[in-house]
Amino acid sequence: MREFEGRTALVTGAARGIGRAIAEALAGRGAAVACVDLTAEGAGAAAAACAALGTGSSSFAADVSKSEACDAAVKACIEAHGRLDVLVNCAGITRDGLLMRMSDGDFMKVLDINLAGTFYMTRAATRPMMKQRSGRIVNIASVIGVKGNAGQANYAASKGGVIALTKSTAWELASRGVTVNAVAPGYIATEMTAVLPEEARTAMLARIPLGRPGTPADVAGAVLFLASDAASYVTGQVLVVDGGMIG
Ligand code: NAD
Repeated sequence: MREFEGRTALVTGAARGIGRAIAEALAGRGAAVACVDLTAEGAGAAAAACAALGTGSSSFAADVSKSEACDAAVKACIEAHGRLDVLVNCAGITRDGLLMRMSDGDFMKVLDINLAGTFYMTRAATRPMMKQRSGRIVNIASVIGVKGNAGQANYAASKGGVIALTKSTAWELASRGVTVNAVAPGYIATEMTAVLPEEARTAMLARIPLGRPGTPADVAGAVLFLASDAASYVTGQVLVVDGGMIG
């Protein structure tokens, strides 16, 4: 069912992993997708994959930790597609390490991309969505932002911040017909988690009742729901997609 026909979605972090799966899932259901990532090559490859699914697509190279770049990406999206209906903030990084030894740089870099990047993109998208009096914003948080984790103080703070930002923005935009929700994935098999030591991955797997890591498509399914008409009465929520890990 092409339920997103006539709508435009902008996905950050679209070049690979979860963002790529989200971009393709939206395109597969008829949305025109503006793919945003650090490099023109990465964003362009994602846009080509979306276009192959039969919808309009475009690509923009932007570092979401730069507010001007976020403003420019949203402007370019509106110029290319005429509107912005769905914003998915998925770009994110980790810089793991014990807090005692964590550098200022590693703390701030994660906050700048994961949290400030989500803020900049959301602020840029707010004006066109408020004007349309409709819109869907879906932020990719993490179960780590709910529960915390040793060795991930920076990442947990950034994703906890994304959840708080989601809830506050939901309050601010509700009267304009814009919903704002978060998806909190658990352990998802992507290049981000492939670099973790074998023991860490085995330990995570042992805590997952469904007995397998999640896939990018598992996360995309939750995003599709929150971006769809079926979720029009859902805002300010965190949908955990973790195979039952945090209970
Ligand atoms: P990934 O590393 O495979 O992909 C991240 C994408 O974001 C890459 O394409 C990268 O180029 C892009 N990106 C990074 N910094 C950027 C910046 N400054 N500006 C624009 N784009 C940037 O990671 P993934 O596993 O697909 O994770 C995607 C999102 O899901 C992240 O926000 C991550 O924190 C979150 N998440 C992942 C997991 C997991 O287990 N993989 C779990 C919970 C949450």
